[in-house]
Amino acid sequence: MSLKIQRAVLFALCVVLLLVVSARVSPPPVRTESADERESVNYVLVTPTPEPTPTPTPEPTPNIRDILPDVVYTDWYLKLVNDVYILSESFAPNVEEVQDGQYVDARIVEPLNAMLDAAREQGFSVYISTAYRPYRTQAYLFFGKASQIAWGGEVEYADAEMMARKLVAYPGTSEHQLGLAVDILDSADTNKVAEEVEYMPLLRWLQAHCMEFGFIYRYPKNKEEITGWYEPWHFRYVGQDAAVYMMENNLCLEEFIALY
Ligand SMILES: [Zn+2]
Repeated sequence: MSLKIQRAVLFALCVVLLLVVSARVSPPPVRTESADERESVNYVLVTPTPEPTPTPTPEPTPNIRDILPDVVYTDWYLKLVNDVYILSESFAPNVEEVQDGQYVDARIVEPLNAMLDAAREQGFSVYISTAYRPYRTQAYLFFGKASQIAWGGEVEYADAEMMARKLVAYPGTSEHQLGLAVDILDSADTNKVAEEVEYMPLLRWLQAHCMEFGFIYRYPKNKEEITGWYEPWHFRYVGQDAAVYMMENNLCLEEFIALY
């Protein structure tokens, strides 16, 4: 073996030895995250850009006049009666008896009975304290009240009439003359004031359901400034379309008629 070859072999052996030694002392490979892991970490760390929430297109608020029911405000069932719109002494509808010796306009017997029957089905007892009241009866009640106030001479009769107007409707200004209004209570005990019966279960039920039968809760407390009356027991027929519209839009009859 020549010296050249001996050196080459020795060199090769040294290289192999070096490789073996370096392999044994090299540190274990550092565990690196897999691509998947990096992705998942990135997914957690990077705050995703939120999808822009689509802004709902606001429904245009319908103008209260745009959705008015198709009624003729001069029809019999929408007739407005109050201190301004006064019935003549001769106004008298064709009436029919319902119950408790009370009469109403014959055209509302059916919806009224349907409402009263529905109330009874809920377990309520139903008493009609007043329905149709002729002009002369209204006059008797009103002037009787004025005379009672003036009795004894402490109050001038003219002043007594003004005071009576706040307690009893002046003849011709009562809806009861129309035959379209009913005062309903749960018993014949009628000596109660409005605040006492406001939360009577029967009246709460009627106030919530009267519109289904074409009636409105005519004189609620929050409309007293307009109507002049607060009577939780007084329900007035106006037909179903108008009743639903008025009750849902919190309008009294005066406000409703003003829209036409
Ligand atoms: Zn009444």
